[in-house]
Amino acid sequence: MSYDIIIIGAGPAGLSFALSLADTGLRIALIEKQAEEQLAAPEFDGRDIALTHLSVQILTKLGIWARFEADDRPPIKAARVLDGTSPYCLNFDPHSVDPLGFIVSNHVIRKTLFDAVKTLDNVELMANLTVTSVATSDIVASVVLSDGQTLESRLVVAADSRFSETRRMLGISAYMHDFGRVCIVCRMQHEKPHEGIAYECFHYGRTLAVLPLSGHCSSIVITAPMDQRDSIMDMDEAQFGCDIRQRFNSRYGDMTLTSKRFAYPLVGVHASKFHAQRFALIGDAAVGMHPVTAHGYNLGLSGQDILANEIASAATRQSDIGATILLKKYERKHMRSTKPMFYGTNEIVKFFTDDRVPAKFARRVALRLANNIPPIKRVIQSKLTATSNRSFL
Ligand SMILES: Cc1cc2nc3c(=O)[nH]c(=O)nc-3n(C[C@H](O)[C@H](O)[C@H](O)COP(=O)(O)OP(=O)(O)OC[C@H]3O[C@@H](n4cnc5c(N)ncnc54)[C@H](O)[C@@H]3O)c2cc1C
Repeated sequence: MSYDIIIIGAGPAGLSFALSLADTGLRIALIEKQAEEQLAAPEFDGRDIALTHLSVQILTKLGIWARFEADDRPPIKAARVLDGTSPYCLNFDPHSVDPLGFIVSNHVIRKTLFDAVKTLDNVELMANLTVTSVATSDIVASVVLSDGQTLESRLVVAADSRFSETRRMLGISAYMHDFGRVCIVCRMQHEKPHEGIAYECFHYGRTLAVLPLSGHCSSIVITAPMDQRDSIMDMDEAQFGCDIRQRFNSRYGDMTLTSKRFAYPLVGVHASKFHAQRFALIGDAAVGMHPVTAHGYNLGLSGQDILANEIASAATRQSDIGATILLKKYERKHMRSTKPMFYGTNEIVKFFTDDRVPAKFARRVALRLANNIPPIKRVIQSKLTATSNRSFL
């Protein structure tokens, strides 16, 4: 069985990448361990993904953005960052009418991408299968699947999550940081309107992000030490509502849980390189971010876009789409944005979860400096609103 490209993992990154190659005429095998029925109707997983304008541009180019219902992509009109119990906040209010970004639920992204990929003639989905081994040489890459069949291609692209097994099979090392914390996500309805404002509250020991969805509804993102996981997950629903209301200073009045709670262990991963011979990493398999800066899928989208463009132009020139020089170019371009984001985010997490007195003092100073010194604020806000590598705090 011979293909031009084998993609491993039909998550948001793998699906976006397959779609980006739609017009290249390249034959693609897309291997996924989940069943096709699960991919066709993914369940809500608690993740509401904040998307930057660059991501919106890429999703528009892929024909995906227009497929989202307006209610499924609410805007973030402004953002506030709070520290501890202080009412003082660092505020980001865009000067134009453009929102800072948008929020789309992960299961909606997955479903919409899957529906689009299913219509492509050049992509063959192989669901319910995993990869048992990968081997590459100067001229070919071969992949053995769990059902025993062997596929060959000119390039293998792994998009099989931050704990990528294929990354390990190819001997690519990764820096992994276990934050010893858990991220608990859910949706809540509230009495008062949110006005499209996103909040990031760095409370001592815990952080609480409240992201505006449609109507009087918000996405709640709690990060807490791992040993508090069970007490937060098992808390009685009414008590949970009161707890979040209190931690959020009753800004939105009564708050009621409207979804299940989902827990994700917080482990940041950055691969030491994004390619090997006839092999590339994209999505979380390349860089798995701490969610506090909401960069994970945004970086995944921009990375797959870079690689797909390089491949499309090589295909047009009829040159080798798995050539090392091409893969190196992708790595160089993508690393340029992922490294500062990854390590910068980890430093932000450290800075805002350090509960010692000097750190609390430094945070207070930092928020005031950022708010009152226009060049500093402009730099941070440019991260929020620039047309490339935009991000949320
Ligand atoms: C709580 C939370 C909030 C987040 N919020 C944001 C946000 O606001 N903004 C943002 O940009 N990002 C956010 N992210 C990050 C975002 O969810 C991820 O970056 C994104 O889902 C990664 O997509 P992926 O396709 O690379 O990996 P995954 O979503 O992990 O998908 C990997 C796919 O590969 C398949 N697979 C795995 N192993 C194999 C194998 N051996 N063979 C075949 N298939 C395999 C899996 O079944 C899966 O379908 C958040 C993450 C979390 C946890």
